[in-house]
Amino acid sequence: MYYTSTRNNSVKLTASQAIIKGISDEGGLTVPNDFPTVTIQDISRMVNFSYKETAKFILKKFLDDFSEDDIDECVESAYKSEKFSSPDIAPVVNIDEFRNILELWHGPTCAFKDMALQLLPHLMKVAAKKSANGKKIIILVATSGDTGKAALEGFKDVENTQIFVFYPEKGVSDIQKLQMQTQEGNNVSVAAVRGNFDDAQSAVKVIFTDQEIKNKLKLHNMLFSSANSINWGRLVPQIVYYFSSYCSLVSKGIIQVGEKVNFTVPTGNFGNILAAFFAETMGLPVNKLICASNSNNILTDFLTTGVYDINREFYTTTSPSMDILISSNLERLLYCLSDRDEILVNKLMKDLSATGIYTINDNLLNKIQRCFCAGWASEKNVADTIKKYFEKYGYLMDTHTAAAVYVYDEYRNKTNDDTPTIIDSTASPYKFAGDVASAILGSENVKNRDPKEVLNEISKMPVPSPISNLGKKNIRFKNTCEKDNIMDFLETQLGI
Ligand SMILES: *Cc1c(COP(=O)(O)O)cnc(C)c1O
Repeated sequence: MYYTSTRNNSVKLTASQAIIKGISDEGGLTVPNDFPTVTIQDISRMVNFSYKETAKFILKKFLDDFSEDDIDECVESAYKSEKFSSPDIAPVVNIDEFRNILELWHGPTCAFKDMALQLLPHLMKVAAKKSANGKKIIILVATSGDTGKAALEGFKDVENTQIFVFYPEKGVSDIQKLQMQTQEGNNVSVAAVRGNFDDAQSAVKVIFTDQEIKNKLKLHNMLFSSANSINWGRLVPQIVYYFSSYCSLVSKGIIQVGEKVNFTVPTGNFGNILAAFFAETMGLPVNKLICASNSNNILTDFLTTGVYDINREFYTTTSPSMDILISSNLERLLYCLSDRDEILVNKLMKDLSATGIYTINDNLLNKIQRCFCAGWASEKNVADTIKKYFEKYGYLMDTHTAAAVYVYDEYRNKTNDDTPTIIDSTASPYKFAGDVASAILGSENVKNRDPKEVLNEISKMPVPSPISNLGKKNIRFKNTCEKDNIMDFLETQLGI
């Protein structure tokens, strides 16, 4: 098995190289040349596996240049019980006959990005030994909030790595800023950048491709890598919980091994739902993958019409991690379902950067629609759903999850599809406490109160310790730099 590129079929990389590189040299994304398979017998065995055992089983199929011991060690370090507040790591909560919620937010930053970013640093450490001569890995992240904190927590004190996170001075929420400024660890740096997210992101991209600084790093036995969701090392850990949640429905007696389920996923960059598609490709019995968006409903339009058009208004919503117009990981789906047509993928991506639009033909659209359907939730739909599920079932959910639940409910009303469904819950309701409390009680009743206390009072659900402890921590990072000074800042910090 090897990894190739969505834009060049002649690329051949080992798993380690794919993880260290993050992106292929010509700008394509890495995918396995052939997907490993999982049989129904394998799934029957997995029903009795712990989350860690399932993770080891799946990872070993993809990371074939890692030793079994390497993988065991990475998984054990990533999913330690002191880091995850649930012994199941990713528990499934049954709501009713059809609805099951897969909670992916029990990790250290209370959002689903922990599921992959707790593991990626360990995978990188091993990969660097194999394919980068033991060079120290320097991770650069430009973040609009969630990814930065999850990456900091993941890379914190991981040997032979160092991480720099840049966030826009005025572009993140107060909780997110505090989460990053108080970050612990001996190999972490955080700085605000004067400007917006695009300024921070383009400054970081320039550094990634600057030959002079790359040469300097080389002299000091270091190299750059990235922790964002185009890295294969972030997708593969996400495949695991599609298997574990399926097995959980079997354990609960909701399905028999071999029966199909639907997955509904609140989607931004298309990484999470793509992992579900890869699980299906490997042999997991799936009926439909339901892609949920918020008012930035570009994916709903694409999956229904085959036209991807970013020339539209951008909305800032209460589910900010889904506020995205360019869903990078869609490129991997186009490649896989067009029978690896690199010429087509190059053309579509060129169209996208030149005009902001691409259109796929009916044949490819039909193939996509056999697996996927899509819908979106307005801001009112999101708030109403939070309130309805809290009042009817006593279940508290965040804004991103609510978008997915709404889209699933609409799907079921329209189709009467009785397939049991797993809905991904991607953030703790406490991470978006203000919007969640307002949805249930009305904003006028939450004003001047700490929304976390309000939620705790009405639900009795404990405030997760990473959020309740935030106020007690020291602020370590108060740096602000101009976007033109990021390079100097890095060189000083690295001593190169
Ligand atoms: C990142 C994120 C998403 C979107 O996931 P993608 O893999 O980018 O589609 C949804 N919800 C939350 C809370 C997130 O942090």
